[in-house]
Amino acid sequence: MDRLSVYIHIPFCIKKCAYCDFLSAAPKGSEMQTYKNALIYQIRSLAKLANEYDVYTVFIGGGTPSIYPSEDISDILFELENSFEKVRRGSYKPVEITIECNPGTLDYNKLKNYRLAGINRLSMGLQSADNDELKLLGRIHTYESWEKEVDHALRAGFTNINTDLISGLYNQSLDKFATSLEKVERHGMKHISVYSLIIEEGTPFYEKYSVDRLSDEEYEKWEEEDRRIYDYTREILAANGYRQYEISNYAKPGYECLHNLVYWNRGDYIGIGIGAASMIHNIRFSTISSLLDYISLNEKACDRYFEKIFNDVSRLSPNEQMNESIMLGFRKNDGIDLESFDTKFRTSFLEKYKEQVCKWREEGMLKVEGGRVYLTEKGQSISNMIIVDFMD
Ligand code: SF4
Repeated sequence: MDRLSVYIHIPFCIKKCAYCDFLSAAPKGSEMQTYKNALIYQIRSLAKLANEYDVYTVFIGGGTPSIYPSEDISDILFELENSFEKVRRGSYKPVEITIECNPGTLDYNKLKNYRLAGINRLSMGLQSADNDELKLLGRIHTYESWEKEVDHALRAGFTNINTDLISGLYNQSLDKFATSLEKVERHGMKHISVYSLIIEEGTPFYEKYSVDRLSDEEYEKWEEEDRRIYDYTREILAANGYRQYEISNYAKPGYECLHNLVYWNRGDYIGIGIGAASMIHNIRFSTISSLLDYISLNEKACDRYFEKIFNDVSRLSPNEQMNESIMLGFRKNDGIDLESFDTKFRTSFLEKYKEQVCKWREEGMLKVEGGRVYLTEKGQSISNMIIVDFMD
């Protein structure tokens, strides 16, 4: 049986953060309840996949999924299990069920109930351990509330916890970031994600800190500091037993996020909830992104449900598949497995990209070793430039 990963999108947050352009907003009226019903309806429609797939990983992301009472999250997971098990026994056997959560929406009982519902991995949004930076980012919590919830999570039995940090805040010094990293690491996180802040148009942050507003000198200084933060993060986390397995992700051995690895290895996944992306047999599609339309597609409107609920359907050409494999493969520290690439695309990677491989290898940016081709530390720092060179 093939493996399927399931992503469930919760588009609600207590309030919008100043830098965020994700598909999320504060809920209005009874939206949370009606959205949950619509999710359940969409999950039921997945039953047809149970003949073909075993559920391998589940990721409940957002938004802030922990905004829901834990009973609602249990109902959603129960429905998912039921949809698969009803059709074929044993088709629901996820090895990893993650929920994203934010301090300020958690407590011990909620975390305990997550464990009872089968959730075995938490991804906590902290972003910074500095309360002034948290305020600047528009987060709803303090560092101390994160500490308290980590303690609750450990007591509830969670051993696999990720914490997200943001680097590259305007005026953020390496020293300040290092303090955040040290505090997070000290709490025994098994996984740490560090994302460079991208200032998106249309966010309050864009109004204040868009690069257009910076002089060349300010921009260079900012970029330079973010680069120093990246190098420092790699070095310090490696020294403390974390393995960087993707550009922004570090894990203790055995704690890599299996769900994300499915995306990076181009496995099949289905997205439930508004705007959620799917890829099945190299066909890409996504669920409609209008909350109102999604909620109103209930059982009464179920004729042509699939046509209505999904859009942007496109079949990837072999060339697009190859480009995507290279793009995602070079983000991972392990790079691209040559044998599986060659078998899948019926071509030799090293022959097809001979010129590029020679060029970047000579410059010390890329290595071919142990049946894999991967970027060196130096290469990862200009990964975008190298990847573009491989695109057909
Ligand atoms: S909690 Fe996350 S999804 Fe929600 S507004 Fe903040 S950054 Fe966006």
